[in-house]
Amino acid sequence: PCRFRMTLQSDVVSVSVASLLTKLKHDCATPLPILQQVADAMSAQMRARLALDSPTQLAMIPTYVHNLPTGNEKGLFYALDLGGTNFRVLRVQLGGKQERVIAMEFEQVSIPQHLMFGTSEELFDLISSGLAKFAEKEGDKFHLPPGRTREIGFAFSFPVKQTSMDSGILIRWTKGFAVTGAAGRDVVACLNEALKRQGLDMRVSALVNDAVGTLAGAEYWDNDVLVAVILGTGTNACYVEQINAIPKLQGQVFPSGRMVISTEWGAFSTALPLTEFDEEMDAASNNPAEQIFEKTISGMYLGEIVRRALLRMAQVGGLFGKSVPQKLSIPFTLRTPDLCAMQQDNSDDLQSVGSVLYGRTGVESNLSARKTVLEVCDTVIKRGGRLAGAGIVGILQKMEEDSEGVIFGKRTVVAIEGGLYENYPQYRAYLHDSVTELLGMEKSNNLVIQLSKDGSGMGAALLAASNSMYMHEF
Ligand code: BGC
Ligand code: MG
Repeated sequence: PCRFRMTLQSDVVSVSVASLLTKLKHDCATPLPILQQVADAMSAQMRARLALDSPTQLAMIPTYVHNLPTGNEKGLFYALDLGGTNFRVLRVQLGGKQERVIAMEFEQVSIPQHLMFGTSEELFDLISSGLAKFAEKEGDKFHLPPGRTREIGFAFSFPVKQTSMDSGILIRWTKGFAVTGAAGRDVVACLNEALKRQGLDMRVSALVNDAVGTLAGAEYWDNDVLVAVILGTGTNACYVEQINAIPKLQGQVFPSGRMVISTEWGAFSTALPLTEFDEEMDAASNNPAEQIFEKTISGMYLGEIVRRALLRMAQVGGLFGKSVPQKLSIPFTLRTPDLCAMQQDNSDDLQSVGSVLYGRTGVESNLSARKTVLEVCDTVIKRGGRLAGAGIVGILQKMEEDSEGVIFGKRTVVAIEGGLYENYPQYRAYLHDSVTELLGMEKSNNLVIQLSKDGSGMGAALLAASNSMYMHEF
């Protein structure tokens, strides 16, 4: 039993759990008209921000990525993938069209919590020392012609204003990061300085958002991929745009008629069905009023929204009896993977729901409380998955409006990456339902939504290859 229990003041226990649940479901509801509004607002804002930058809503970042991998890429390349919770180092030996991936190795390092709140030097030192250790172990499966510098694709999963394919300025941190001294700076310069401190002679030849890395990685195997989405700790989407549909780049000359745009759709906030719990969570976050779509649909936040709803039900409705377990008041004690574990419980007594609740929060629950918990999880997950689906339709719609048939008239693939989509079957199903509901049978017929095979790091390495300084020597 839990040692810390606050006793409820009886006059506070005034609202029934059932009515709180009804209100939550009402506030989170995503019937078709709401989904359509979200999709339409997404399309409209994409268009507006392709014409004119603005500090709010979608950044619609031109990536300078014109050519996606073809399969012809050759040579040894490294990648660094700095995401939400981990960073990965990777090397790959590419053998061209026939041989494709000759060898590939990676290592994953979790980012110590304190480095999320430290200095830019500390973070980039950790990354470059991880890279240095990994590079030392390069065996003879990998081969670089003598005299060449090892090249890196850097997948950096935060909003960056690209200044070229291999440089870009960090706009701001997201996903709980609050590292000082990096915002406003070129992240490749930050990395290069750390590599120098490390004495490591390597060169970044591509700086890419993880969504762009995912698009590149998926395109390597399938030419019909036009959109990539990240649904993990955070969220983002990118797609292939026509240069003449990007008025803010007007007057510049590019080597090709298309460019990948990173939408930074996590910043979207129009027409979303939000609850008091979303508002409280946002206000308590270290980036209030920012990343509202992200806070409604991505893995970092869904568990926290559920925790806040359950806490309210415990406080004013007595969900877990007369007292409120203290641990339930601690932000982020319930994580999205916990919701997922609970939602896989099909047993009569909801044994696993009970043990996850107890393990995470010290809550002891009866069957009826467990049922309520599952309904709360489902409500929040359903809203998240369906809104993510509406966002995807918003992008497809915008592309189709610009040139009819480009999306729905043929096979089109949306590649999705991230633990939330990959590991949470209910979330995935809600997302798919939403897309089908919005598009109807005929339009969704040619559409393929698929999990991307190899993470964003592989795509970053591929883009390092297509932007290699030795390219002409291949
Ligand atoms: C960042 C994006 C990133 C996404 C997924 C968001 O918080 O703003 O740049 O692509 O997370 O990792
Ligand atoms: Mg990632």
